Amino acid sequence: MSLQSPSPVSDAAGDPSSEERPLLGAADPPPFQVFNGDATAPVVIVCDHAGRAIPAALGTLGLDDDLLHRHIAYDIGAAQLTRLIAQRLAAPAVLATYSRLVIDLNRQPGEPQSILDVSDGVRVPGNAGIGAAERAARYNACHAPYHQAIDRQIARLRGLGTAPAVFSVHTFTPSLAGADRMWDLSVLWNEDARIAAPLIDRLRREPGLAIGDNEPYSGRQLAYTLNRHGGDAGLANVAVEVRQDHCESRWELDRWATLLATALERILALPGVGGDEVGGGDGPAP
Ligand SMILES: [Zn+2]
Repeated sequence: MSLQSPSPVSDAAGDPSSEERPLLGAADPPPFQVFNGDATAPVVIVCDHAGRAIPAALGTLGLDDDLLHRHIAYDIGAAQLTRLIAQRLAAPAVLATYSRLVIDLNRQPGEPQSILDVSDGVRVPGNAGIGAAERAARYNACHAPYHQAIDRQIARLRGLGTAPAVFSVHTFTPSLAGADRMWDLSVLWNEDARIAAPLIDRLRREPGLAIGDNEPYSGRQLAYTLNRHGGDAGLANVAVEVRQDHCESRWELDRWATLLATALERILALPGVGGDEVGGGDGPAP
């Protein structure tokens, strides 16, 4: 599949455009939040679509405020769910601050889909026709620092002798582009079944839950974060998507957090999933 941008992002870290200016001003919040940053459980929890902030310089991207509270802007409930899971596991979590509409952190920078000018049928005027300098500024401000924060958490745990797993938390809208989605929770994974297989098995034993396996889309197609931090480094990795209409109350969030944290804690204790650098890391399952 070829996804070349007509105006690819420059290598922003090494060769920023002379036209480029920093996107974030003094009043803008930092691009990520680290929760439980000193925790030592053998997993780093990440939430690419936690936030719906927009840098002040971009205004509202031309959207009405109510649209910025909808699923096109962020994963509703995902930030709270991430913190609740991290609390239960005593694990570090890295959460993004800025909306996926600014730049999608789970996409390869430079892919056209990383900055959408139409999202679920909604035109995003502030994203229409933007050029390479604007794309690079968004990458530098939001995408790069978030992923570097994850890198640092992984390096910190590795420095303690732990090869951490990477657990990515998303929520999904129950209806997208007119199509209903039947799952309560879905497990998304690419090539590494070390967490996905036992997690699906455990969750499917819960009565009354419809658990998807790489549905409504596949972790094989949309796995930038998992591949970058997990697969490419040989670390066990998986993503979950919970239906957003199951994340509307604290009671529901607590239930999901307990279910997922309990399952993960057991799975992380399995050989080769999360743990010692020496002796762990049996490599991805076929
Ligand atoms: Zn998401």
